[in-house]
Amino acid sequence: MSELLLDVGQMRDPEARIERSFAAGVLPTDQSICRIAAPVALSVSVRKDRMQFRLVGRVRTTVELTCSRCLEAYEMPVEEAFDVLYLPHSAGAAGEERMVEDDDLSTAFYEDNVIDLGQLMQEQCYLAVPMKPLCREDCRGLCPECGANLNTETCECRQTWVDPRLAALEQLRKDE
Ligand SMILES: [Zn+2]
Ligand SMILES: [Zn+2]
Repeated sequence: MSELLLDVGQMRDPEARIERSFAAGVLPTDQSICRIAAPVALSVSVRKDRMQFRLVGRVRTTVELTCSRCLEAYEMPVEEAFDVLYLPHSAGAAGEERMVEDDDLSTAFYEDNVIDLGQLMQEQCYLAVPMKPLCREDCRGLCPECGANLNTETCECRQTWVDPRLAALEQLRKDE
């Protein structure tokens, strides 16, 4: 069985603690969202309540993102805490799937006595990724005219391009 899968069928105690580190390449991620750039440390306590398993813990790693302004790759540390309740997923029980009312608690499903830790860690990494990743708060982005990365280069475009609204104001001022 993959090291990313947790066999809860073997679990005898009501609570278990897992501390594991996974090599960066083990965890699959959508490369367009983020790339795992360091080993992934998982620390989690698993609490069993009959057929339900509550996983509380945190995921730590470093991801590589693409800046939405300058398109350069940069690294961002990830430390995400999670609290997920796993319910057994049985075919045909879809209509009975309980709605969990506590907003702070997310729910997931497991099948065949196996909880997918890979999916859990992947989701935590995705959650950590900002909507508009920026390599730094004041990233200056790319010049819309020539494509130069304005963090590292200067170009002539900005100096010659005049906002037409400003130009109109200038004209008004001259006319007065
Ligand atoms: Zn940037
Ligand atoms: Zn330019």
